[in-house]
Amino acid sequence: METGLESSEDQLKEEICKVMKNLFQRGFVSALGGNVSARIPGANEFWITPSGIFKGELTPDDLVKVDLEGNVLDGFMRPSIEWPMHAAVYKVRPDVNAVVHAHNPVTLGLSLAGYSLKPISVEAVMVLRKVEKVPFAFPGTDQLAKLVREKATTGARALILQNHGVLAMGSNLYDAEAIAETLEEAATAEFVALALGKEPPTVPERDMELYYKLYGIK
Ligand code: 13P
Ligand code: ZN
Repeated sequence: METGLESSEDQLKEEICKVMKNLFQRGFVSALGGNVSARIPGANEFWITPSGIFKGELTPDDLVKVDLEGNVLDGFMRPSIEWPMHAAVYKVRPDVNAVVHAHNPVTLGLSLAGYSLKPISVEAVMVLRKVEKVPFAFPGTDQLAKLVREKATTGARALILQNHGVLAMGSNLYDAEAIAETLEEAATAEFVALALGKEPPTVPERDMELYYKLYGIK
């Protein structure tokens, strides 16, 4: 018999596949790159994409359910090697219910060139709010998860993983996808301005403060 909880998990799984497909189609991940997860409401468990499988056409049956210690509770595939950093975020951020890890090329390139993302648009201010950089650690390691946890505790919504990619932490899957997309949008606009030899002007400080007040963002 279907319970409400099962159907909400089914919906989460559908949404994870949809978000992963969007990231692939937009060129934010390559065939085998990136991973997406969503916390099961009210549980210390989450659904995550499988490891090393083509990410452009995942179906709900490909997904894996794990707990915050990485024990596999459901599914047939191996969970993403990045499950430790997803779990690390869920442990320290009760406000986060979905995590997107992608390899946004422009965001990464700008960061590697030593530029930080500037609040160049209202979306960059409102959607990203706080972006932190995470020093390099090898993908899938506990060390990467530890560094991610440290930066996630600052309340950041987006992390740039040095020599690797990005991590977006949202209140739901589409929020997390919007963060990953807004990072790339803002990075691309900043890159264009810089490539044309101009330092991009940012949203005035006064207006940013106003937005933060309006939406209760500290
Ligand atoms: P997975 O296929 O194991 O999720 O790894 C992809 C990736 O981006 C590692 O950082
Ligand atoms: Zn990666």
